[in-house]
Amino acid sequence: MPVVADFVVIASWVVPIEPAGALADHAVVVRGGRIQALLPAAEARRQYAGLRVVELPGQVLLPGLVNLHTHAAMALLRGYADDLPLMEWLKGHIWPAEARHLSAAFVLDGTRLACAEMLLGGITTFNDMYFFPEAVCQAAVEAGMRAVAGIVAVDFPTPYAPDAATALSRGLATRAAFAGEPLAHFALAPHAPYTVSDALFTQAVAVAEREGLPVHCHVHETLEEVSTAVSATGERPLARLERLGVLGPNFIAVHAVHLDAADTELLARRGVHVAHCPTSNLKLASGFAPVGALSRAGINVGLGTDGAASNNRLDLFAELRLAALLAKAVAGDAAVWPAQATLRAATLGGAEALGLGAETGSLTPGKSADFIAVDFNSPTLQPVFDPVSHLVYVAGREQVRHVWVRGEQRVREGELVAGMAGGPLAPAALHETAMAWAARLRG
Ligand SMILES: [Zn+2]
Repeated sequence: MPVVADFVVIASWVVPIEPAGALADHAVVVRGGRIQALLPAAEARRQYAGLRVVELPGQVLLPGLVNLHTHAAMALLRGYADDLPLMEWLKGHIWPAEARHLSAAFVLDGTRLACAEMLLGGITTFNDMYFFPEAVCQAAVEAGMRAVAGIVAVDFPTPYAPDAATALSRGLATRAAFAGEPLAHFALAPHAPYTVSDALFTQAVAVAEREGLPVHCHVHETLEEVSTAVSATGERPLARLERLGVLGPNFIAVHAVHLDAADTELLARRGVHVAHCPTSNLKLASGFAPVGALSRAGINVGLGTDGAASNNRLDLFAELRLAALLAKAVAGDAAVWPAQATLRAATLGGAEALGLGAETGSLTPGKSADFIAVDFNSPTLQPVFDPVSHLVYVAGREQVRHVWVRGEQRVREGELVAGMAGGPLAPAALHETAMAWAARLRG
């Protein structure tokens, strides 16, 4: 008797992340938005005869990528200010532009643009740090992506909230409004040690602990951040966060570029996760996160694009290749972070950092059916000895053909489903809206 399921996807290779490696001629079976089984193609054809089958010859199935750090709405600031160091870029350009233009409409339009780019590039989950989380969640749900919306905490007024207490309560109200929406998740997002007071860190962490949420924070991004803190207070930012009781297994340290041995030991001891954003770190000349050393210390590392204002792509395939290559050069060791480890960072590593390791990040039966198909048929990907190697060193986001989230198809043959038939991600509408914002920003 045929087993009950919704549909089966059969591909030339399946890279489940756990276990490591690639399985040739395998199938993923989906039922009720979840992965029901992962099994050899021949067995799937026998067991699920009569069921809808999606055949993907020459393609590889893998979990949807997890973008562990972004500011999605800043897609509208792509290319707005380039070739500047972090503080000059932030204080001279980005923060003034945000002060003039930031609104719920800006965030909704910017996040829609970012969701279109991310989905087309195989990203199914993003961890966002920005204002107006209600607009972030609306855009993500429309697109059919999984978002972790940051409840931002900063010690200065913003167009979102006059003070941190208001921002926290508005963020928690948004979370309550999206309760029951399976694609909307939340995190506390104190911006950085240089914008958040001791009292606000303590308050944000207390809320995170009470609500069972992750904490998402930029840390040790530049040498200047660390040296300014040390000359002002005698304390390194991570030592300060430890003193305040902020560091723990729910903490995501974004960047973690400038670390001494004691910092690394502290991150490992506290079970902190690191969001590695190599393109952004290079573009702002911040430096190189020592991911090989972090990994050897047992620290979970995920990959992030950061915002499009400092990248300028929301492209995790680009980050995969760059991260794998940089890790080798920084450590002086070609074996330090192999392709499998890098791919794990871009999938399960990110999911675990977000507390979503039981929901997404690998093709494990029982998890949400969040997976993508990458087309290896192009001559640029031939021959194929090891699909994992190709995903890291050869493939680009333009090879992403299909994307499913919760078992629903979101990208079909390289086209956004939510962009078809005048949907919210229709390419012409996205283009027109982006140009209108550009005109205002130039204004
Ligand atoms: Zn950032």
